Amino acid sequence: MEIARRMHRIPPYLFAELDRKRAALRERGVDVINIAVGDPDLPTPAHIVDALTHAAHDPATHVYPPYQGTPEFRQAVAGWYRHRFGVTLDPDREVLVLIGSKEGLAHIPWVFVNPGDVALVSDPGYPVYATATVMAEGEPYPVPLIRERGWLPDLSAVPEQVARRAKVFFLNYPNNPTAATADLAVFEAVVEFARRYGLLVVHDNTYSEIAYDGYRPPSFLQARGAREVGIELHSLSKTYCMTGWRLGFAVGNPDAVQALATLKTNIDSGQFTAIQAAGVAALTGPQEPVRERVATWQARRNAVVEGLRAAGLDVPMPRATFYLWIPVPEGFDSVGFAGYLLETAGVVVAPGVGYGQRGEGFIRISLTSSDAKFAEAIRRIREHLTAAAPRGRR
Ligand code: PMP
Repeated sequence: MEIARRMHRIPPYLFAELDRKRAALRERGVDVINIAVGDPDLPTPAHIVDALTHAAHDPATHVYPPYQGTPEFRQAVAGWYRHRFGVTLDPDREVLVLIGSKEGLAHIPWVFVNPGDVALVSDPGYPVYATATVMAEGEPYPVPLIRERGWLPDLSAVPEQVARRAKVFFLNYPNNPTAATADLAVFEAVVEFARRYGLLVVHDNTYSEIAYDGYRPPSFLQARGAREVGIELHSLSKTYCMTGWRLGFAVGNPDAVQALATLKTNIDSGQFTAIQAAGVAALTGPQEPVRERVATWQARRNAVVEGLRAAGLDVPMPRATFYLWIPVPEGFDSVGFAGYLLETAGVVVAPGVGYGQRGEGFIRISLTSSDAKFAEAIRRIREHLTAAAPRGRR
């Protein structure tokens, strides 16, 4: 058997050593606390689960679903966009169901990137943008997100000849892993850039509903001219605590949405109709459960930021996403600091370099573990950081 060459271009897995340490600690009976992974600890709201079970009993849901998504789901998406963002979408041409937004992201380069073409990917960023580009035999080009400018993209750092070869620009605000947010002026500058170079903007708006202190993140499609150059991907994973359900959608430029739909008709046959019915219940039903979950994360954010600051870490207060993006203490790099916290405190955090070269010097913590786990994790981090200060360690 031979594995295809493109598989060898998947970036190396950086954290084998950390995984080995974690396994060894568990073997020794250490209670390892994982606060690295962004997977909601709160359950899917009950009315959504009920909608699934009800729909699953209907034999009409047992056959292949319509490729583009059920008309009810596409209408629910259009209604939600109108209500939430004031953006009008044609449910027949501008909405496509996805099997989670990751599925859509992973397939986009197949549709828009020829072998050797460039896809612009934010650095740091969600790793799927680059890996999916590599799978389509394109070249990911990292666009630096600048810390001093609130982790917004530095478009001037893209050389003219690279921009000309670029076909897609992956962008994501509220941002994983930095928790940065962007306003419409940022999106409008990206629209201008996309127009100049004739590229498709793919805005990943997975975290639009996970925002605090009354902040409401915008849709890329609210930016002037966005629909001419872009699509936006969304997910029910975070908003409705449905990561396991695999339900998302792409909206926006009808030609791009239809091209992605054409590819998908040749790969998958859409998402289970009963899950789409649950999605309709999520998007059109009461939004109180979303507010409750966000309030839980907001209270936890406040407590965790305060606890980690008291432990000596320089923790910025995020206003969206459930991530804390924290500079590592002097003397460490990101893998070194993650390894230090693991070995001394038995706490797993994500090293920033896993999200790109410009993630070096940071770790990411996800607020999606219980308050009790965080209380214990912070207690341990505090104990060991105080012990380590101010020497640091590599
Ligand atoms: N985009 C970003 C930025 C993410 O962080 C994630 C999940 N962590 C996804 C997309 C994928 O989400 P899903 O496939 O569950 O919709």
